[in-house]
This record gives sequence, C-alpha cells and structure tokens, in this order.
Amino acid sequence: MSTLYRILAIHAHPDDVEFQCAGTLALLTEAGHHVTIATMTPGDCGSAVQDAETIAAIRREEARASAALIQAHYTCLEFRDLAIFNDDESRRRVTEAIRRARPDIILTAPPVDYIADHEMTSLLVRDACFAAPCPNYLTRQWEPAPPLAGIPHLYFVDPLEGSDREGNRVAVDFHVDVSRVFATKREMLACHASQRDWLLKQHGIDEYLDIQRRWGSIRGAEIGVEQAEAFRQYRGHPYPHDNLLLEILGQDGRGRTGA
Ligand SMILES: [Zn+2]
Repeated sequence: MSTLYRILAIHAHPDDVEFQCAGTLALLTEAGHHVTIATMTPGDCGSAVQDAETIAAIRREEARASAALIQAHYTCLEFRDLAIFNDDESRRRVTEAIRRARPDIILTAPPVDYIADHEMTSLLVRDACFAAPCPNYLTRQWEPAPPLAGIPHLYFVDPLEGSDREGNRVAVDFHVDVSRVFATKREMLACHASQRDWLLKQHGIDEYLDIQRRWGSIRGAEIGVEQAEAFRQYRGHPYPHDNLLLEILGQDGRGRTGA
C-alpha cells in the first residue's frame, strides 16, 4: 500500500479554499490522505445584516460542513476579518496550528493578492513552516504540540482571478486536473449558503457558484481539460524542492495522469 500523507490547506476566510484548491483536496482524501482545512478567520465581516459573532458562528458551521463532504477536518484560528497582521503573536499562533496538523504538505494563500488578509496569511504560513520544526521556538499556546520533524512542502494557490495587484496574470508552476471531482468542489462551495444568498440577493444571479466554474475552466483550458487548479511551489532555500503534491496525485502538472 502506498504511503498516506497529511495535508493542511490554510487560507484567510471561509470559502477561499473552496474557490482555489478544493478539487485537489477532494482528490487527496479520495486517495486516503488526511486533510485539514483551516481558515484564519470565521468570516465575521461577511454579512450586511447579521452581527459579527452571529455570522461567524454560521460560517464556521458552513466551513465544517464543506470539509465534511470530503472527510476533511476543519479548524479556525480565530483571527478576525481585516485584522490579520504579520506580528509575533500571530506567527506563534499559526505555527501552533501547523504543529497540531502535522502536515507533510501545506497549501496556502499566494504572496500577492487583492487583499492584505490573503497576503498576510501567505507570509505568516511561509514563516511558520520554517518555525514549526525549531524546538526553541515556543508558540506560547494552550497545550502546545511538539515541533515538526521538518519543514513541510509549501504551495501557493491562485490569487483571485489569477492576477496580481495590477491585474497582470501571475505565473504558475503546474496545474492539477480536477474535472472528475468538480461536482464535489461545487457542492463544497454551495455549503457556504450565507455568502451565496448574499450575492444572489445583490446580483439576482447565482454568481457565487458561477465564479468558481468560470475560473476553473480558464485554468482547465490552459491544459486541455474541463476544470483545473493551478499552484506554485515555494522553493526558498531550506524548503523541500521535490514536488510531493503532484507525486501523490499521480499527475504530471499538465493534465496527464500516471506521472
Ligand atoms: Zn478571502
């Protein structure tokens, strides 16, 4: 039997993972790997009518239901929307979350995106990957988990619409064909009913799910498949350089299997 790995997908807000890498996660749990989905915040600013704690409680449950569809575990780091900063306490909290999840592979937000919450998440996760194996780095959290054996393989998902702050398309390393599990990916996003209803009310169309399909088909067309997700691997000096993610997916990064 092949080795089973642990994967942590950590992004800023509930539904970011569903847009950018839920198909890849569905393929991974289907193959028996252990997946944790983490959000930095519970999406407490994601409503114009409910107060912060009410919408946060609703969105935690939506995120949990989405993760449960692929037998993934869900956790929230309990930062707050528009209040994710790269500071000492935040890095310790993110490091603790990584130590608890014990991942071999981490998928996270891209370094450049349309909003600072995403960029700060990316930066915090990158440095927490480096900190997680350091025994002298204390997280100062309740019942701290032991340090990791090594730095996990780190990957960045697409920014919104694949663009940098000037609207230019960012380069990617490889694609994952997620056509086969797209129905599940769509179902996962549909769990975020509070956000879907909000957009439905504002635009009168089911724009929420359409955005996901449209973006996935743009990435898919780049490699000649129906639906794809794109990634960049972080290859800073001490970080693992081998592409473990593609290896365990059995894909070659251009839409072909059996790599
Ligand atoms: Zn977000």
